[in-house]
Amino acid sequence: MMTASILTACTGQGTGRGEADRETFDYVVDQFADLQVLRYRAPGFEALSLQQKQLLYHLSEAGLMGRDILFDQNGRYNLIIRRTLEAVYREYGGDREDEQFKALETYLKRVWFSNGIHHHYAEDKFVPGFTPDYLAGCLQAIGISHLPLPEGQTLDAFKAEIFPVIFDPAVMPRRTVQSGDGDLIQASANHYYAGGITQKEVEDFYAKLKNPEDDTPVSYGLNSRLVKEKDGRIVEKVWRVGGLYTEAIERIVGALQKALPFAENESQKAVIGKLIDYYRTGDLKTFDEYAILWVNDTASVVDFVNGFTETYGDPLGMKASWESTVNFTNWEATKRTKVISDNAQWFEDHSPVSERFKKKSVKGVSAKVITVVALGGDCYPATPIGINLPNSNWIRRDHGSKSVTIENITEAYDKAAQGNGFDEEFVWSDTERELIRKYGFITDNLHTDLHECLGHGSGIILPGVDPDALKAYSATLEEARADLFGLYYIADPKLVELGLVPDDEAYKAEYYRFMMNGLMTQLVRIEQGKEVEEAHMRNRQLIARWVYEKGKAGNAVEWKRKEGKTYVVIHDYVQLRVLFGALLSEVQRIRSEGDYEAGKRLVEDYAVKVDPVLHAEVLARYAGLKLSPYKGFVNPVMREVKNKKGEVTDIRMDYTEGYTEQMLRYGREYSFLPVYND
Ligand code: ZN
Repeated sequence: MMTASILTACTGQGTGRGEADRETFDYVVDQFADLQVLRYRAPGFEALSLQQKQLLYHLSEAGLMGRDILFDQNGRYNLIIRRTLEAVYREYGGDREDEQFKALETYLKRVWFSNGIHHHYAEDKFVPGFTPDYLAGCLQAIGISHLPLPEGQTLDAFKAEIFPVIFDPAVMPRRTVQSGDGDLIQASANHYYAGGITQKEVEDFYAKLKNPEDDTPVSYGLNSRLVKEKDGRIVEKVWRVGGLYTEAIERIVGALQKALPFAENESQKAVIGKLIDYYRTGDLKTFDEYAILWVNDTASVVDFVNGFTETYGDPLGMKASWESTVNFTNWEATKRTKVISDNAQWFEDHSPVSERFKKKSVKGVSAKVITVVALGGDCYPATPIGINLPNSNWIRRDHGSKSVTIENITEAYDKAAQGNGFDEEFVWSDTERELIRKYGFITDNLHTDLHECLGHGSGIILPGVDPDALKAYSATLEEARADLFGLYYIADPKLVELGLVPDDEAYKAEYYRFMMNGLMTQLVRIEQGKEVEEAHMRNRQLIARWVYEKGKAGNAVEWKRKEGKTYVVIHDYVQLRVLFGALLSEVQRIRSEGDYEAGKRLVEDYAVKVDPVLHAEVLARYAGLKLSPYKGFVNPVMREVKNKKGEVTDIRMDYTEGYTEQMLRYGREYSFLPVYND
């Protein structure tokens, strides 16, 4: 599971680290549509050993090799559209200052950012700012030899196939449809399913495989596409060497093999070796063995995620998108998460949920703060700020989980947002702004730590309850559970005692920002007239609305108007904490008992709908600030330095590559799949 930053939508707080730290590093790389591209630094990289640097280098290569997989997972036409537009961008000799060309460039930048033609967060298809005629002219001008046409296809046939996908709003309108009464599989444009298979057929197929008696089930469907063949048979096409996506997976395996000799120790070597086995066989039992080895490897400095991992993109929460992160431990900041994980049992024992749903013994929650050096697949360019893996419930129960906070990313967000005017516009008064300025960076990171390292790992599912019982509502409710755990505890006196917050005022910064974001400011990410879709955003609105509704009676929180503008005002932070605890208790009950109906009601009543008047106001105020509601990152470029004999003597980090430059280079150097992968 991963945490996206609420900082991407809000914030403008200082780091509290003073002027001395204000260096000349330029965090902002590019800005277009509703997106801003930043770069991040990897402080501490230079001090690593050559062996560790080489390990990071090869793991980073492995993390780039699979980029095309995600494009195809996100939609069958994404690769051919990306390559077509890249060809136009490279080759077109006409007027590149023309407005239509500029619109095409922006569209291509958005396709890169979203790994496809649908918005990475809002899920709906982009509306091109150029016409079909204009694109047709460009294709004619650059000539068929530059286009990624499948064997034997004419330009006319090509256009007939591709143009509706780009231009017709009725064709593949949404990448993933998470709710509603219709068939979610058929409504979703992504490529996790094919052949016109229905949701019912998918559910029946996997219900047959599952054995309710099995206490250690594999993650069914995790690494395959489910296809209904022409003759009506339903088959899984597994993503593995020799299977679907083999051209990319072979490259990933090749890079992992190069990484092996640089492993820091035997257990890390075993992790990488087992991952290679899994990619070769596609066997989900092998994947579980790998996940167990990985979660137990806590001594290594270098660590990574590489594989089919998160299931947010599948409406049924089974199929995983391909992603990668490569990182090393930030020891100084890890002291903080070590304190949290050392006290995991205390937090579990004192949580406000029913005793029946608590873990009697919390298994090794290992938490650390990391510095990433490369983001890939579904972590690029938009990236999480916290990750907690593995996702398998029984592995978490029996072997624990590894939880990370990515502090060089939160730091880049924070630095890039300094003085952007956001808090001046949306925060009620100087009192709250001062709280956020003073404590915001600390409490935001701490909330992520608590969310990842305790929240997701807490509680149990009662014996006999299907872990997928909450179906399409599961992701939202799981994120709510983790966020509530963090919100409840960030105000606990225990945190002051443990030295994690400087005093008993600090939590108010997080409470204010969370409520403001969930009730109001996260709406800057949503177009007028649309509803909240993404699981983390739904979770935040669910919590904030529910707590607002219960809290307004006792005047704990209210809306206030000042000079025609709406603000969130919190009067009673203590009462708010009680409410966060009460909601945590209910969400945990829903999860533990698999109470689908109650979960559905919470999400549908609180998480989805938007007040159109408030929404319009927030959008107008935000527009005045000229900020971007979504952010992503370019990677630093890692280069091998060689001596005359060709031996690698160092790995250097280069932070100068631009966004378009990087995307075009990745398209040249890390693109291995055919345009269609059926
Ligand atoms: Zn999470």
